[in-house]
Amino acid sequence: MPMLDIQDLTVSYGPLEAVRNISFSVEAGSIAALIGSNGAGKSTTLKSIIGLVPAARGRILLDDQDITRQGSATRVHAGIALSPEGRRLFGRMSVQENLMVGAHGVKSSQVIGRTLDEIYSLFPRVKERRRQLAGSLSGGEQQMVAIGRALMANPRLLMLDEPSLGIAPKIVAEIAGAIERINQDKQITIILVEQNARLALRLSNQAYALEHGEIIRSGKGAELLADPVIQKAYLGV
Ligand code: ATP
Repeated sequence: MPMLDIQDLTVSYGPLEAVRNISFSVEAGSIAALIGSNGAGKSTTLKSIIGLVPAARGRILLDDQDITRQGSATRVHAGIALSPEGRRLFGRMSVQENLMVGAHGVKSSQVIGRTLDEIYSLFPRVKERRRQLAGSLSGGEQQMVAIGRALMANPRLLMLDEPSLGIAPKIVAEIAGAIERINQDKQITIILVEQNARLALRLSNQAYALEHGEIIRSGKGAELLADPVIQKAYLGV
C-alpha cells in the first residue's frame, strides 16, 4: 500500500480544470517529483493534497484512509506538511519565530525543542541567523527557513513547492543535499515540485510530468532523464 494514493483527482477554479483526472501514488520513504512548466497544475496538486483547495472529483488516500473531505488542519495533524511556493515567511518576525509558526499544532515542548535542534543541524546558517528578521535573509536562507517551518510540524509527508526557485546555484546544491538528508536520515517521504526538472529527476525515485493539468509521463527519475520527450520539453537538450 502506498503512503499517498491520488485517484482520478480533478481540481477546478471556476470553469478552469487546473488538474484533470490525475492518478499517482507515493511510496513511504521515497521522493516523488512533479515536474512541468508554469501553470501545469503542480502547486494546485499540492494544495489539494493538504486541503487548501477542494477536490472537484476523485479521491486522496493517506495510508488507505480517505482524506479527500478533511480540513487541512486534520491533514497536517495526520502528518502532511507543505512548504509553499514563494516561501511566505513573516519578514518582520525573527527566523526562530517563523519556525515556531510551523509548530503550533505540536503540544510537547520537548518535541518542539528536539525538532528545532534537528533543523538547526540540517541548516547551520539558519541557526546562526535565528534571531535575525526573516526578511533580512537571502532568498536561499529564506527557503531553508520555509523548509524548516514545514518540518516543525513533524510531518511524515513533506511537500516542497519550488524550493530552488530564484536561488543561487551553490545554495541550490545545499538545499538539494538537505532534501536528501531529510528523506534518508529522518525517513520523511517527500513530494518535490520543481521547474528545475533536472534537479527534481536526479533527486527522485518516482517522477511525474504534468502538462495542462494532466500527467503526460511517469517513471523513475532516471528513466525520465533519459526520455527524449522530457529532454526536449524540460531539460533543454
Ligand atoms: P507555477 O509553477 O506557475 O505555480 P503550477 O504548475 O504550480 O505552475 P498552478 O499554480 O497549479 O500551476 O496553476 C494551474 C492553473 O490554475 C494555472 O492556469 C493557473 O493560472 C490556475 N490557477 C492557479 N491558482 C488559481 C486560483 N486561485 N484561481 C484561479 N486560477 C488559478
